[in-house]
Amino acid sequence: MNAETSRAISDPLPAKAGAQRVDVLIIGGGFGGMYAVYRFREMGLRLQAFEAGGDVGGVWYWNRYPGARVDLPSIDYSYAFSPEIEQEWTWSEQFAAQPELLRYIDFVANKLSLRPHFQFNTRVDQATWDAAREVWVVTTDRGETWEAPFCIMATGPLSIPKAPDIPGVERFKGRLIHAARWPHEPVSFAGQRVGVIGTGSTGIQIVQDVGPQAGELYVYQRTPSFTMPMRNVPLEADYVAEVKRNYPGIREAARNSAVGGVRPQSTRAFFSVTPAQRRSLLEDAWKQGGLAMLGTFSDLMLNETANEEVAEFVRSKIPEIVKNPDTAERLKPKGYPIFARRPCLDSSYYETYNLPNVHLVDCLSDPIVEISEKGVRTESGEIELDMLILATGYDGLTGAMLAVDVVGRDGRRVTQKWKDGARSCLGLMMEGFPNLFMTTGPNGPAALANIIRISEHDVDWIAAAMTHMKARGLSTIEPTAEAEESWMDTVRNLAKRSLITKAKTWWVGTNVKDKPSGLTMFVGGFQAYRQYAAAAADDGYRNFRFGPTSAPPTCEPRIAAADPVTGV
Ligand code: NAP
Repeated sequence: MNAETSRAISDPLPAKAGAQRVDVLIIGGGFGGMYAVYRFREMGLRLQAFEAGGDVGGVWYWNRYPGARVDLPSIDYSYAFSPEIEQEWTWSEQFAAQPELLRYIDFVANKLSLRPHFQFNTRVDQATWDAAREVWVVTTDRGETWEAPFCIMATGPLSIPKAPDIPGVERFKGRLIHAARWPHEPVSFAGQRVGVIGTGSTGIQIVQDVGPQAGELYVYQRTPSFTMPMRNVPLEADYVAEVKRNYPGIREAARNSAVGGVRPQSTRAFFSVTPAQRRSLLEDAWKQGGLAMLGTFSDLMLNETANEEVAEFVRSKIPEIVKNPDTAERLKPKGYPIFARRPCLDSSYYETYNLPNVHLVDCLSDPIVEISEKGVRTESGEIELDMLILATGYDGLTGAMLAVDVVGRDGRRVTQKWKDGARSCLGLMMEGFPNLFMTTGPNGPAALANIIRISEHDVDWIAAAMTHMKARGLSTIEPTAEAEESWMDTVRNLAKRSLITKAKTWWVGTNVKDKPSGLTMFVGGFQAYRQYAAAAADDGYRNFRFGPTSAPPTCEPRIAAADPVTGV
């Protein structure tokens, strides 16, 4: 599509007085928003993007906390759409740290001249569908109004830090930092009494980094996480050269995998081998590090007994590392299946508890009562602190979408539509919200696969839908209610079979007060997800209603026939 032809789908009526008009509005400057800007610009569309942060980078712009590091291999956690970028950029470590990730993001933004399309430090307050003029009207906290026929919510699953829900947090007189809003200037921990609340992926990375630096470190743990050795290594020149030669194959394998990355996947059922063989395979995976454990057997998220055996294996490693038996016991995750919370990868988390200045506060037996002016008060007493780090997580998956007042057809709001839980078709669109697209949206694979692979997929899918519309002179697209419900059935039915819902986590929304709980992610794997999305398009978009022709579809939505893809 070139600039000339794109006008056919972009200028129904002139912009309202005071509003600025483009073809596509993009909200968010993370990996999804950056690729969307590039892709739609290449299609010749006029666009404007908005980002609340001061630069591109999304979670990696905000999460500057000590120890922040990606836990997918850097080779996988990078854009695949540009062979030039693949060849020109060289990763230094198997799992890149946040500063290197930001350098990569900066490299991409410069190479593709993305920044001029963004308004930074700008929050979108509202997005409203104007049906008469077939445009999304977007207002920002700068008081500006923008209009475009298409609006892309590239707002990401982990953008809104969970509001601190501990009484007294505002009274603390020391330094209070949320990990996801980490200051840009260096923070010194030397001689400081530091508290960390939260032991998810973020807390674990902070603890192992800050423990050796702080005067005293108090770790407030409510639910212990399963964590496995990352075994990060520098990437040797020969290895990098080989990767660069083989990128097309690596990307193809990633796109055809469950997680959107190159990782061993097994077809071996847990109880198909002897106990000794199982133990040996688990030991190998532990030694190999990363998420190798997840690739040892095919049924770890389906067979509770198998899952428990793996969980016990990981638990058994803790006292081998942590010298204090009481601390080791309290660090053991219990009461939920392994991998039903996001598995963590660490480099020295358990070892950190052997330092004399590092103290575990077990909030299950000694709950936090309040945060006082001086520190944290648990049932057993108060610990005075100079600094308190909140690693308490996010209003994940839906928080960023709901932070924008999105008003669709007939005045319906996303807040109403999602009052019992997020609904969407393929995680990409919603019935009642024409021409509004999400990248990595709820009910897609979201947090269960490589976010960059999903982002590229989603933007490409959106671009193909726009091209389809242009070719036919169509101005609006929206999934039918039946198609959306059918997709939600697919998501729910797959989730029911998995152990993933058996833990209280941000994945199921239980971490945020009053949030509807339930898994709003597609657990069938990235490859299967791609097949569903491709089928929806290849089928002539039969599950979507287009304008100006608003005839309902004439046949059953094809995505109702979900099972051939996953075999479930
Ligand atoms: P999280 O997994 O939701 O963990 C939040 C932690 O804070 C939990 O331990 C939680 O305990 C605790 N917490 C929350 N409120 C609390 C309270 N009032 N009192 C005591 N404890 C409280 O959040 P996260 O660690 O920020 O990780 C979120 C996601 O970000 C991860 O799952 C991952 O997808 C992503 N991430 C990835 C990386 C990486 O790639 N390496 C690094 C960091 C984050 P309960 O569980 O008991 O509620």
